[in-house]
Amino acid sequence: MTDAERNEIIQKITEARQRIAEAAIASGRKPEDITLVAATKMNDAERVRAAVEAGVDVCGENRVQELLEKYEQHAYDGCPLHFIGTLQSNKVKYLIGKVALIESVSSVKLARVINKEAAKAGICQDILLEVNIGREESKLGIDPDELFSAAEEIAAMEHVHIRGLMAIPPKPQPNQEKTLYFDRMSQLFIDISAKKYDNITMDFLSMGMSADYAEAISCGANIVRLGTAIFGARHY
Ligand SMILES: *Cc1c(COP(=O)(O)O)cnc(C)c1O
Repeated sequence: MTDAERNEIIQKITEARQRIAEAAIASGRKPEDITLVAATKMNDAERVRAAVEAGVDVCGENRVQELLEKYEQHAYDGCPLHFIGTLQSNKVKYLIGKVALIESVSSVKLARVINKEAAKAGICQDILLEVNIGREESKLGIDPDELFSAAEEIAAMEHVHIRGLMAIPPKPQPNQEKTLYFDRMSQLFIDISAKKYDNITMDFLSMGMSADYAEAISCGANIVRLGTAIFGARHY
């Protein structure tokens, strides 16, 4: 990668930090209360390292294979790693011990597999529950109506620890409130917190991507996941 490309990543992260700080302060929080996850999919180890050196808080990876390749190349050294993509049960074992947080736990069944693999490794895996807040058929995630019962069931598992919620909401229709789905997530987050379940600590609300992270923060997000805002457009 060229120096110009590196400088562009550094510049974009500086700009994102600025917007994050403004949104945090506007909603009565501190800039450092918000975790900036670099969504690193399709960016090679060198570009990921540039983002790590520029000071993102976390790297978020979508695909297990891609994560393992970059892990081998030491792309994430010195930076916590989150898994944020679709996770197949048979791939869970590759993540255990490598990722601080699995953000995309979209079913009780998947949590059960994580529990089993974490038990084998003798650890407790931190997770977020991914909510299909727009009830979209094309997306994974726990249905909002089933969230409480799923949370209770997963909370009983000894080797997973629920740390909060994650969502990839749809874009609201033009006639809908712009923050409709973020507000719904925020309400679910508050409602689950109020239940004070054993073995659930509602620390993180992960929502907001490049197009809408300021709005997400204003609605209570404290993890934002930025891809294009840091690395530019992805070339599929
Ligand atoms: C790619 C991705 C992002 C980042 O998307 P951008 O729009 O590029 O910021 C965030 N979250 C998840 C789960 C992703 O897959």
